Amino acid sequence: MIQQTLVLIKPDGLKKSLTGNILTRLSETKLEIVAAKIIRVSRELAIQHYWHMEERPFFEELIKYIQGELHGRKKVLAMVYHGENAIEKVRTLAGATNPEEADSVSIRGSFGRITTKGLYENAIHCSDNEKNAEREIKLWFFPDEIIVDMYNSEIKEIDNFKKKVWK
Ligand code: ADP
Repeated sequence: MIQQTLVLIKPDGLKKSLTGNILTRLSETKLEIVAAKIIRVSRELAIQHYWHMEERPFFEELIKYIQGELHGRKKVLAMVYHGENAIEKVRTLAGATNPEEADSVSIRGSFGRITTKGLYENAIHCSDNEKNAEREIKLWFFPDEIIVDMYNSEIKEIDNFKKKVWK
């Protein structure tokens, strides 16, 4: 099944100079990168991305983490990987959410840690199912930023400019 998945190299991954290492590991999947950008994460984007964690005690710390406030790196590398079974392939290489429980050769097992405040710093985000992948990709990217057509979009006129937006 051809799928797409959102991959983020989180601020700890950027601070630890892990981008090359993580991209090399992900290239083993033979998936294609169809979108990529460095982005400064607003509080609104962070909250929308992690809306499902809102009730968790570490939510505020998590928002600070993805915004880069814990690492002095106010940026995230956001990418869309596309291809056969993309979601499971990337999740397997990433490893379990808790870096202590992740397979020790996985990305999170190799590079993650638990902070003194109890937050899992795990270097990478990747979508966990097709529904979330669609929601997350549409949240982080405009249609024109992705080189493959994957979800329905439409042209809208915004401030006299025609722009492609998600339907
Ligand atoms: P995943 O990132 O594997 O899809 P979740 O969506 O459940 O997992 O969690 C989002 C992020 O919140 C995790 O990647 C991790 O940084 C943090 N996190 C999740 N669960 C915990 C927890 N029990 N304690 C501390 N941090 C957590």
